[in-house]
Amino acid sequence: MTPRADFVSDKDWERFLEYSRDLETPCIVVNTNTIRLNYQRLRGFFPYSQIYYAVKANPEPEIVSLLAEMGSNFDIASRWELDMVLSLGISAERVSYGNTIKKARDIAYFYEKGVRLYATDSKEDLKHLAGNAPGSKVYVRILIDASSTADWPLSRKFGCHPDMAYDLLIMARDLGLVPCGISFHVGSQQRDIGQWDDAIAKTKYLFSSLEEDEDIHLSMINMGGGFPAPYTQATNDLSEYAAEIQRYLLDDFGDDLPKIILEPGRSLVGNSGILVSEVILISRKNNTALNRWVYLDVGKFNGLIETLDESIKYPVVSSKDLPGCKEAEVILAGPTCDSMDILYEDYKYRLPVDLRIGDRLYFLSTGAYTASYASVGFNGFPPIKTHIMRAGGPN
Ligand SMILES: *Cc1c(COP(=O)(O)O)cnc(C)c1O
Repeated sequence: MTPRADFVSDKDWERFLEYSRDLETPCIVVNTNTIRLNYQRLRGFFPYSQIYYAVKANPEPEIVSLLAEMGSNFDIASRWELDMVLSLGISAERVSYGNTIKKARDIAYFYEKGVRLYATDSKEDLKHLAGNAPGSKVYVRILIDASSTADWPLSRKFGCHPDMAYDLLIMARDLGLVPCGISFHVGSQQRDIGQWDDAIAKTKYLFSSLEEDEDIHLSMINMGGGFPAPYTQATNDLSEYAAEIQRYLLDDFGDDLPKIILEPGRSLVGNSGILVSEVILISRKNNTALNRWVYLDVGKFNGLIETLDESIKYPVVSSKDLPGCKEAEVILAGPTCDSMDILYEDYKYRLPVDLRIGDRLYFLSTGAYTASYASVGFNGFPPIKTHIMRAGGPN
């Protein structure tokens, strides 16, 4: 059983199998070396940008520390994320409060801790910022509806129309804040690179009109996340994204490129994780049913919430996979007493016909939005455990 090389190298796979052999399932094994390589690649492709890791993707302290060491900054969404990051000795100057939905007292908390960079997308939030984080830099998030081509869209809930962004940036100045730029997020696992073109064009329009009409000079574009991790559905290589996005930026901004911020989450940590699960039960719903139901010790509530609507289709490998082995379609489901705890039913995975209770299934590319998304104990199943497989072995 060897997964395709674009998900994990043969050497890393062997090392992972060895490392995970005696671990209790379900669990996620994270290879920090993969994160290191992902970060270096991203840096290489976007040398003109500053990176703010979206901590929510995987808040494991060891991952955050590694990225801090490599020079990353951090996109934070709550007091608790902030406390965790600061507790690792990371300075508040490297933090952006990127959540547009925040309590006034949480803003005060961030300000007191030294954070001076904030996202907003509404008047009320902007007033809270002026009152609780005076003099801070503020960027406004614009609404991008790119939901049809993103596998995990972030549209509707966040951002405002560019016309409102225009008003908010003027209001920010008038309230004594520093209007510094525009942000957007084209949707997570965004497979259509053209979405950045549209977002950058809207941003350029705001830069120009605020300069001309109001003498407000914006200096920063926060391009959010959206770069893909490798799953079963094909995506362009990161080099492709980088080349296209650089072209859009040059087309719109020429030599006068503002400061560029990237907030990668999924693309930095996604392929660093492999989730190990065990088959609890295999059954059929009647004697002649064609499909087997394969029930696992992992499901929607303890790590695989992004299988909602079968949005993210992880590559799955079983301990019975051998070249040329006979396979048949299955329905994959989790262990809890909730009928929504079905992972894949429409999309049929194929697994070996001699798969048995007690065999292991490995979900590849599960380093992002898994452990941090698990319930605290639905049906008593504890949150999934993460093990860090440290670099140091051969790579
Ligand atoms: C979640 C999030 C990100 C990370 O997005 P990915 O698609 O995982 O890279 C970046 N910025 C903001 C504001 C986010 O909410």
